[in-house]
Amino acid sequence: MKVPILLPNIFNHPFTYESDIDLKVGDYVVVPFGKSKISGVVWDEFEKKNNRNFKIKNVLKKLDVTPLKKTTIKFLNWFSEYNMIPKGMALKLVLLSSKAVEKLQKDTYKIFDTNTKKISTTLSEEQKNSLKKMNVSNQKFRVHVLQGTTGSGKTMVYFEALKNIIKKNFQGLILLPEIGLTSQFEKKFIEFFGFTPAVWHSGVTKKKKEIIWSGVANGEIKVVIGARSSLFLPFKKLGLIIVDEEHDQSYKQDEGITYNARDMAIARASFENIPINLITAVPSIETYENIQKGKYSISKLEKRYQNASLPNYEIINLNETKLERQSWLSKKIIEKVNFHLDKKDQVLFFLNRRGFSPHVLCNKCFNSYSCPNCSINLVYHKNKNNLLCHYCGFKSSLKRNCVKNGDCEFIFSGPGVERISEEVKKNFPTKKIEIFSSDTMNKKSASEKLEKIINNETQILVGTQLISKGFHFPNLNCIVVVDIDFSSQGHDLRGAEKNLQLYHQLSGRAGRTGKPATVYFQTYENNSKMISEITNENPDIFLKRELEIRKKNRLPPYQRFISLILTGENENKLEKEALNFKNFIENTVEGKILGPVNAPLFKLKKKYRLRFLIRGSKSMKMQNSLAKIIPKYKFPSGIKLSVDVDPINFN
Ligand SMILES: [Zn+2]
Ligand SMILES: [Zn+2]
Repeated sequence: MKVPILLPNIFNHPFTYESDIDLKVGDYVVVPFGKSKISGVVWDEFEKKNNRNFKIKNVLKKLDVTPLKKTTIKFLNWFSEYNMIPKGMALKLVLLSSKAVEKLQKDTYKIFDTNTKKISTTLSEEQKNSLKKMNVSNQKFRVHVLQGTTGSGKTMVYFEALKNIIKKNFQGLILLPEIGLTSQFEKKFIEFFGFTPAVWHSGVTKKKKEIIWSGVANGEIKVVIGARSSLFLPFKKLGLIIVDEEHDQSYKQDEGITYNARDMAIARASFENIPINLITAVPSIETYENIQKGKYSISKLEKRYQNASLPNYEIINLNETKLERQSWLSKKIIEKVNFHLDKKDQVLFFLNRRGFSPHVLCNKCFNSYSCPNCSINLVYHKNKNNLLCHYCGFKSSLKRNCVKNGDCEFIFSGPGVERISEEVKKNFPTKKIEIFSSDTMNKKSASEKLEKIINNETQILVGTQLISKGFHFPNLNCIVVVDIDFSSQGHDLRGAEKNLQLYHQLSGRAGRTGKPATVYFQTYENNSKMISEITNENPDIFLKRELEIRKKNRLPPYQRFISLILTGENENKLEKEALNFKNFIENTVEGKILGPVNAPLFKLKKKYRLRFLIRGSKSMKMQNSLAKIIPKYKFPSGIKLSVDVDPINFN
């Protein structure tokens, strides 16, 4: 018999093979491809038309693995069409590697089944009502949003919902952003369920991934907690998907194979015909719109755990209180912090900038240190004593011959968390201070550091936005936002939404155990309206207004954006090519083409970047028209096109 077999490579179609073995859609097989052997999956459709004249080869063997479900295959076909990704690359997200499928582990997945003691919980009335709403789906597809203020016990509600699903012998998937730091969450999970979940993210070892993959495929693993990529695991009987912190922009993968994991999770739930729950304190604009339209159901938790109240807000106007030179903390804020420290409160200084200083220049020649590969300033990291590019990883030491004789004399312009930490140390010399950023927390020491913060051994934290992500620090009752800055908002259509999410999440870290807590905003801006909006207990006011702006300006979620980015090492050649390309696609594309323009990050990793933005109605027409015309255009070598459907970053 002839069978269509999709292989995990850049092709958008399955290949035809001959087979003596009886094969069904979804079976995993090993086939010859070129000079090598690779594994693939029997697909649901043959390649449409094929003018090539290849000798049809034979399937070598069928693998002893639970077949990929037809619904999952349908989802992958759709995923590939929507995101404009070759089908083979979509399959690559499912298969760990060609080899890994062949040597699947047979019985080691039992390690996820260790029974430990469970803690029983009692839900509040609010929580019970929310759970009831989640359970009405009858196991069919529907999207439910659980909106609850930070610290209101949302996790317990969806844990209960998940428990029901597991009892019915289904599997569950919990998607989390920033999975590298899940130890706190895992502990909570084990306490509730009495068993260890399988945790899936890029940092998990290959061997462990193989174990999880096979355990998920044969249905032995009941729950996976994972980052974006866990969405492509071959679940045998998936019964519920939960997207925690659904508004989090890190669900968007914007390099390589680009997709939005939250949106794709909703699509997968729809193809599998199972319920999905989106969990958030402040819904994303897209989700909010779907709630307004009645497409998603919603339940709310308005009370914080044990009736803890939300933090108070205070604005410290820096125009009224002069800062000393090379100083970023006002006298007033030092007084406030002392007051909190005396009460044994933990204090967080928030500044969303890694390193010591974001901009280094010479006092004599005024040349700055910028990245030779990217159009961006290098950031000085004092701890490592080097200058670092946050985009390409370029490193250099802090030394340079000056064009005006001798060595350059450096000026460090502006602070990063390291610099603020030094100023904090000067003001509070006896306190234990910890920097909380991706430079200090992504290592093995992270859990030890977290433990110290939770036990109040660390009295002061200086952190970037990493700290806003779901941590529970019981003693944190004072947050100082070193500099609230809205200046970048004009360039980014999501700027206002991003700020709302960030500061809402951030202030949710404070006052979680019932003690009074305050968030202080230091600012030069007189934009008190903006601050009052982002600190309002009812975020719907903001969301409603923002949605009106989007509608008026025909922005997502009312229209669809697709961005096309052309990159190349030769600036002139790239520019010429971009114009030719535009002419070529202009009359075929279902949508309005804006650009080409220089990308805000014009040079990245030695390549120049030009952007197009295509705007059109929300249907597959735009993708399909592009998919038809783009392959017909032959780019000269060295020029590359990448496509990003529903872009979030416009760098
Ligand atoms: Zn760089
Ligand atoms: Zn100089």
